[in-house]
Amino acid sequence: MKLHEYQSKALLAQHGVPIPASAGVVMDAAGARAAAAKLGGKVVLKAQVHTGGRGKAGGIRVAQDAEHAAQLAAEMIGMVLRTHQAPEGVRVERLLAEEPVDIAQEYYASVVPDRSSQRSVLILSAMGGMDIEAVAEEHPEAIARAQVDPAIGLRDYQLRQLCHEAAMPLAQRADLMRTLRALYETYASSDATMVEVNPLAVTSDGRLLATDAKISIDDNALYRHPELAEWTDASEEDPIEAEAHRKGIQYVRLGGHIGVLGNGAGLVMATLDAVARAGGKPANFLDIGGGARSEVVRESLALVLSDTNVRGVLFNIYGGITRGDEVARGILEATRSMDIRVPIVVRLAGTNAAEGAALLRGTSITPALTMADAAAEIVRRTAA
Ligand code: GDP
Ligand code: MN
Repeated sequence: MKLHEYQSKALLAQHGVPIPASAGVVMDAAGARAAAAKLGGKVVLKAQVHTGGRGKAGGIRVAQDAEHAAQLAAEMIGMVLRTHQAPEGVRVERLLAEEPVDIAQEYYASVVPDRSSQRSVLILSAMGGMDIEAVAEEHPEAIARAQVDPAIGLRDYQLRQLCHEAAMPLAQRADLMRTLRALYETYASSDATMVEVNPLAVTSDGRLLATDAKISIDDNALYRHPELAEWTDASEEDPIEAEAHRKGIQYVRLGGHIGVLGNGAGLVMATLDAVARAGGKPANFLDIGGGARSEVVRESLALVLSDTNVRGVLFNIYGGITRGDEVARGILEATRSMDIRVPIVVRLAGTNAAEGAALLRGTSITPALTMADAAAEIVRRTAA
C-alpha cells in the first residue's frame, strides 16, 4: 500500500523526522485560502497523487497570499497530471498545503529491503532532488549505502560511516544522524517496504527538513497497522485489482492483452513467461488456487475480461488433487453462463488431463497439450 505524501510526512513526524509546517490537506479553493491564512500568507500547494515528478508536471505551485492560493487550488484540483512515471495521467483531488521552504541543498535518503543480503539498506546521497535512478546511473559514487541487520538494528557507527561516505558537511552530521535514525525507525516499526525522502532539504536558515516523502507499507503486514490500513485511497487503486482484493482473488494487472489464469502462483508466473516468449503480452496474473468450482472460475474469468485490453484468455491448469475433468467442467459451466467474445485456450496437464480435453472437444474452447503450445496458440489467435 502506497501512502500519500501528507500521510507519509505525518508518519515520519510521529517518529521524529522534521517536516515543514503544514496546514494539512485541502480539497477546494476555500480550503486553500484558509490554509494560506493559517500559515501566514505564503503557501506551497502539492498535488497528492502516487507519482513522482510532480514538480515538473505542474503539480507543485507556490502561492504568495491567500487569494493567490485559492486561485491556484482552483486550477490544480481536477487537473490531470501527466508525469514520466504516469504518462496516462492521474486526476488531482487533494492538495497538501505547507509552509514554502527556501531550499539551499537537496539530499536523498531512503530505506528499502535488500533481498540479496536479506537486510535493510539505508541509502544516502548528497545529490538529492532528482531521479535517484539517474544519479545511480551517472554518479554511482555519489550514493552511499549501509546494510542494517534487522535483528541487530541500526548502529551509530553505521550512520557516521554513511555520512562520511556520502561526504556530508560536518556541521550537518549530528542532525542527519538523528533524522536518518528516525527514518529507519519509521521504516522498521511500520513494516514499510520503502521509506524515501527526496529531497531531504537543508533550508537557507540551516534546518534539515523532509520536504517530500514516499512510503509504501507491506500489504501482508497491514493487519498489524489498522491505523495505516484506514489511509487506503480507493481512487488511487487499480479498480480491477481493488475488486479482486474484495473478492479474495489473487490478481495483478500487467497491461498486456492476453488474460492468464492458472492454478498455483508458480504455474501462473511460468505461464506469463511462456506468453512473453511466444511474443505476447500478458494482461494479468491470476491464480485461481486449488479446486475448480465453476463459481470461482466464473468470477475469476469475469475479472480478467473486465480489462478491456484483453483480446484472448489462456488457462493453464495442472491437475493434481484437482482433476483435469473437474476443471474442464468448471470452465465449461462458467463460460456457458457468460457472454464471451474472445478466444479461450486451455492447457490441461496432470491427473485426468485427457478426460478434461475430451470434454472441451467440440466446444468453442481450444484445448492445448503443452504450455508452449497453448501460449503460441493464444498469441496467434489474438494477433492484431
Ligand atoms: P516530486 O517532483 O513529485 O518528487 O515532488 P517534490 O516534493 O520532491 O518536489 C520537487 C521539487 O520541487 C523539489 O526538489 C524542490 O526543488 C521543489 N519544491 C518542493 N517543495 C518546495 C518548497 O516548499 N519550496 C521550494 N523552494 N521548492 C520546493
Ligand atoms: Mn520528490
